[in-house]
Amino acid sequence: MTEKVDVAVIGSGVGGLTTAALLARRGLSVAVYEQHYVPGGSASHFNRKGYSFDVGASLLYTLGKTGKANFLYKILTEIDEPIESILDPIQIHYHLPKGWQVRAHYDREKFLAELTALFPKEKDSIRKFYDKLADIFAMMDSLDYISLEDPQAGMKFSFSRPFSAIKLAVNSFKDLGSLVKSTFQDPLLRRFIDLECYSWALVGANATPLINASIVIGDRHVGGVRYPIGGVNKIPYALVRGIEKFGGKVFYRQGVKKIIYENGNITGLELKSGEQVKAKVFVSNATIWNTAELITDEQAAKSLLAPFKKFPASRSFFSVFCGVPKEAIPDDYSTHHIILENWDDMEKDGGTLYLSIPSVLDSSIAPSNCHNVHAFIVHSFLEGKRDRDYMDWKKKTAEELIKRLPLRAKPDFYISASPLTNERYLARKNGSYGPMFTNGKDLLFKPKNLTPIKNLYCAGDSCFPGQGVSAVAASGVSCAMLIAKHFGIKWNQ
Ligand SMILES: Cc1cc2nc3c(=O)[nH]c(=O)nc-3n(C[C@H](O)[C@H](O)[C@H](O)COP(=O)(O)OP(=O)(O)OC[C@H]3O[C@@H](n4cnc5c(N)ncnc54)[C@H](O)[C@@H]3O)c2cc1C
Repeated sequence: MTEKVDVAVIGSGVGGLTTAALLARRGLSVAVYEQHYVPGGSASHFNRKGYSFDVGASLLYTLGKTGKANFLYKILTEIDEPIESILDPIQIHYHLPKGWQVRAHYDREKFLAELTALFPKEKDSIRKFYDKLADIFAMMDSLDYISLEDPQAGMKFSFSRPFSAIKLAVNSFKDLGSLVKSTFQDPLLRRFIDLECYSWALVGANATPLINASIVIGDRHVGGVRYPIGGVNKIPYALVRGIEKFGGKVFYRQGVKKIIYENGNITGLELKSGEQVKAKVFVSNATIWNTAELITDEQAAKSLLAPFKKFPASRSFFSVFCGVPKEAIPDDYSTHHIILENWDDMEKDGGTLYLSIPSVLDSSIAPSNCHNVHAFIVHSFLEGKRDRDYMDWKKKTAEELIKRLPLRAKPDFYISASPLTNERYLARKNGSYGPMFTNGKDLLFKPKNLTPIKNLYCAGDSCFPGQGVSAVAASGVSCAMLIAKHFGIKWNQ
């Protein structure tokens, strides 16, 4: 059988679903092909023993009503599929070497006071630094979103907001590290800012673009971090409902086997089931490396990967998902924690420990009197088979990770996921978190939605702006804007 649509999307991550929902809403026929049995990719979930575990993301921005950069709220409102979410009063509780603690409160003054208490000599510099980030974020949050690949939209923006356009352009070529060096003297405070970046970018301040840092650090005190009631998967499911309501289709367990390239164009998809898909435009939400492997022409695949030389693949994660009795978690504990035992280990495999306990905010995702714990570390991909040695290594790594958790009682059970597990279930090559910035000044050079292949677009964390559920939603919006234009559809009709 052959399915014929205007737009065929490979993958139902938040990037792909956003593109599909916004285009279906504008009257195009869309079909999404997902290899897994649930939507959401790294923002999906699985159920075990009465628990709903988020497989990846759980610290979410842009679900609130304030500002203009609140992508998730706006997209779900536009497709009339709002979801309920709860404000998290603390973005991250940092547990630092020597027992130091800092909580990044929603209340900015509380956060500044805790950080200043650790570095009293840097009091004025701390305020100056975070004021600068807040200032850049406020500017970003006042702008209408446009695709940077649409020259007409860019011109319109530059003429209507010339000062903002200049400020934005200037700051786009800056990294956070330069601001850190020119503001702070204390080497440990500099390292703390590295950790602030590493917690989401997996690189330190020198490699983090100033704009990205401003958005993440600025918005946590404005729109804030919110958790969707019922779990992060409420977002992909809402997008799927939107797609289907506007006549689109989402197919599960329908992996794409080939992206068929002929005469400079993509002419169709071949699914693992053997079915063919014909479309005028194709969108890949798979990582750029997975996408390249699907393309039937070697040169075309190479051309797709060429711009990524500057943006190498990051490592993966090793996760444990635990069901724990309520008494395992202190009553005053917040949701997200970062535990670093040694400053020099921050970027090493396993050096930084991430801990999420979303049932602190939303008890509906765990059985009564229990908590839902997801702990993970950055981990390199290890080649190999799922043999006995691998299973032993996986068990040992999971148990070592659990020992590092500040739990007051043993988990009732745990499930572990290695980089190999991530590769398998999330269909991400080597389980990678995605392309990394190695130089914080390269923001505008990050590949965006257009590809060197005429009718192939990309949406998701391989594209500008990068990793994170809100960021991939933003990439989905700009991808949909470009495709709507391709079909001669006015965006704000
Ligand atoms: C452990 C972990 C923790 C994270 N924590 C956070 C967090 O707290 N906050 C945050 O904002 N972000 C977080 N992230 C990052 C965030 O989850 C991702 O950046 C984002 O969800 C990626 O979305 P995406 O649309 O780019 O792609 P993905 O989520 O990777 O989705 C791509 C989809 O394409 C499908 N696919 C791939 N190949 C094929 C094929 N051949 N055929 C059919 N389907 C295919 C996959 O199955 C998948 O469903 C985390 C990620 C991980 C792994």
